[in-house]
Amino acid sequence: MQGHRMLDDMIDHLASLQERPLWQPAPPEVRAAFKAPLPDEPTDLAEVHADFLGLVLPYGGGNLHSGFMGWVQGGGTPVGMLADMLAGGLNANLGGRDHIPIAVEAQIVSWVRDIFGFPETSGGLFLTGASQANFVAVLMARVRAVGDQVRRTGLGSQSRLVAYTSAEAHGCIPRAIDMAGIGTDQLRMIPTNHARQIDLEALKAAITADRATGLTPFLIVGSAGTVNTGAIDDLAGLADIAADEDLHFHVDGALGSLAVLAPDLKPLFAGLERADSLAFDFHKWGQVPYDAGFILVRDAKLLRQTFGAPAAYLARAATGLAGGDWWPSDDGPDLSRGFRALKTWFTLRTYGLGALGASISANCALAQGLADRIRHEPGLELAAPVALNVVCFAYRTRADDTEGSINAAIVERLHLDGIVAPSMTRIEGKAVIRAAIVNHRTSIDDIERLIERVLFFGKALDNQG
Ligand SMILES: *Cc1c(COP(=O)(O)O)cnc(C)c1O
Repeated sequence: MQGHRMLDDMIDHLASLQERPLWQPAPPEVRAAFKAPLPDEPTDLAEVHADFLGLVLPYGGGNLHSGFMGWVQGGGTPVGMLADMLAGGLNANLGGRDHIPIAVEAQIVSWVRDIFGFPETSGGLFLTGASQANFVAVLMARVRAVGDQVRRTGLGSQSRLVAYTSAEAHGCIPRAIDMAGIGTDQLRMIPTNHARQIDLEALKAAITADRATGLTPFLIVGSAGTVNTGAIDDLAGLADIAADEDLHFHVDGALGSLAVLAPDLKPLFAGLERADSLAFDFHKWGQVPYDAGFILVRDAKLLRQTFGAPAAYLARAATGLAGGDWWPSDDGPDLSRGFRALKTWFTLRTYGLGALGASISANCALAQGLADRIRHEPGLELAAPVALNVVCFAYRTRADDTEGSINAAIVERLHLDGIVAPSMTRIEGKAVIRAAIVNHRTSIDDIERLIERVLFFGKALDNQG
């Protein structure tokens, strides 16, 4: 009974998001409720659920809401929620063994291959997010460059490996280089051009210079949608350089790569199909509930070479439950793994690729519409070109605000206001407002409200200052 109520309440919640603030700060008494001592005695499910309704649900992160444009977060769907509930009921462990949940994940791997035009020999698997997927790619590129004995010997202090990415790459790329033991001193952050894409000439020059000093270039990481502005690197150009230099070509497609599902946007990603590996997130533009990151690899054997483990308790049988021809725990860092594939399978089948592509295309059209509004609004100015779904702009203010601090203040006011929530970033050191349109619920009304509220708070702050 209580289970039915919980489900009904959540479905009602999703159907009435607009009636509540996008975000509100939790009051001290709510935070205090989460300093409770260990629960020795059982509590009625209805009571715990009532606490959820009063203490958790009203104080979420806002990414369900149509006005959410902060950072890059997916909006989720009711179908994804229901599928996640079924996965929880099933409680499957996707590390390995012979059961159909593994076949569901294998089905997604093969669909992902088709989405990105990768060959039959490619493989991949779910991970928590693109941060982990980018990390896995660095580990694979390392094995590819120096051989899998590095798993025993470690890189050692004599390592000459050097990697390349753009100055606009996501912070998880340096972190992955750090975690892989390469060291961020060996990551070259190549400058970008006017469109905020990696500068190919500067990249080639850096590779040549590193080879001249005896270093070993091994990896290029391109961005299919940078986190700051949504810029898409010249992926075909990067693929050419990687081929000429015999380097692993990895693409961080967390933000943008699923836009290949939109026929009008797909040409922007030419060259992506030539990558050696691709990290992306179903939990962003795929609208699958958190978390659902993915690594796709051209040569599936490279994953096995990087992660395969011979532990005796994981021995395979010819038949029976200990059989099965694919054990994902051989292809990634995790042993026990949840059933991320199920919510993805439900999402892709229920909505279909056409609808997902249309929603991505609509997000980008809203971004272009927002950019147009900003160009025509004397109080606002565009801070970067709009390639995809990210719009960086600024409130025009007194010339002495060289840091753009009014924009940071406007973003804070907007969050407390609870109607639209962009985030803040810095372009050439100056604070700007950044709207990343990812949610399938976002509409032209949200764009109008964003303009209106930014101008409102901008004027109010200007008058104060
Ligand atoms: C979100 C994002 C990441 C990190 O992905 P997570 O799923 O949050 O780990 C990496 N790169 C880019 C460009 C992103 O937008």
